[in-house]
Amino acid sequence: MRALVKHPDEHGLRLEDVPIPVPGPDDVLIRVHTTGICGTDLHIYRWDPWAQRTIPAPMTIGHEFAGHIAALGSNVSGFVEGELVSAEGHVVCGCCRNCLAGKRRRCRAPRGLGVNFPGAFADYVLIPKSNVWRHTGRVDPEIAALFDPFGNAVHTALKFPMVGEDVLITGAGPIGLMATAVARHAGARKIVVTDLNPLRLQLALRMGATRVVDVRSEKLSDVKADLGMREGFDVALEFSGSPKALEQILAHTIHGANIAILGLPSEPFAIDWSVVVVNMLNLKGIYGREIFETWYKMGVLIEAGIDISPIITHRFSADRYRDAFASLEEAGAAKAMMTWT
Ligand code: NAD
Ligand code: ZN
Repeated sequence: MRALVKHPDEHGLRLEDVPIPVPGPDDVLIRVHTTGICGTDLHIYRWDPWAQRTIPAPMTIGHEFAGHIAALGSNVSGFVEGELVSAEGHVVCGCCRNCLAGKRRRCRAPRGLGVNFPGAFADYVLIPKSNVWRHTGRVDPEIAALFDPFGNAVHTALKFPMVGEDVLITGAGPIGLMATAVARHAGARKIVVTDLNPLRLQLALRMGATRVVDVRSEKLSDVKADLGMREGFDVALEFSGSPKALEQILAHTIHGANIAILGLPSEPFAIDWSVVVVNMLNLKGIYGREIFETWYKMGVLIEAGIDISPIITHRFSADRYRDAFASLEEAGAAKAMMTWT
């Protein structure tokens, strides 16, 4: 089969012919249909210091995917060949305090598909049965392939009540864009989305933003005044990893605001903790998705008609993977997909 393999000490990936993996008793073999490229894959592609420390190269990468079940291990029941599935990419340890208490989402040592063990940028991928998610309803395989990052967006956007709230979303990458659609669907009042990329900000309007703000040229205080907001945002969702964005959140949320933070900063940085204390802010770090409650909610949201397809700006066959990765360097790109069928 074809697989996109990362080799140590080189930029990019190699499309290689490797053996189809053989399922162990608890594994499900999946024929990959469509994959999405994530920021994590870009870090691996470029072989940055994080990737060098983390990836056991040579290894097949990729974790955003959907495909059809091709074979089941001898202990696997409850699935049938041909079903459209994706996978929760975090495989938990099963023996830490949280895992033992049934809180898999809080595992102290999850292993990542396409990061710590071979991934889905291939014709076939092997997934432990505990991590396979069957898509119900009539979800398109391309949308199904987005469930991993869509789950980040849904988990973050539904962390706090949304009905009637004024919401600030910092970062209009694929995840911030999908969270905009979720916040709109969940009943937010005003949704203001910030970024520095005009084309991504245009997409945010399509996803349901009330107003978008290019932070290079516009002030949030002016935007608040324009929108008739006397105090500030009730809820903020951080999807940029930028210290400046968190600074803006602290400056423009109401006392007691709910703030969910998914964006990962590249370096440690300081914030004004006195604002957090005096404004009684409620900060919540978000990692991954809830296993499998977020997955259930995603299925329901898609059934209810939420449309996340505008974030897909580029589509390629897997053989054109170099073009797919290159497309993400373009200013207007959000999500690039690769098909394997
Ligand atoms: P992305 O890099 O495509 O998007 C980030 C966006 O933030 C970009 O459009 C960028 O222009 C914008 N940005 C940069 N500085 C900004 C600023 N000062 N104000 C407003 N916007 C600014 O990333 P993504 O794939 O959408 O992921 C979002 C973030 O979430 C990233 O930081 C990623 O590393 C992180 N992430 C976290 C988890 C988790 O489980 N916690 C999972 C996936 C991704
Ligand atoms: Zn654990």
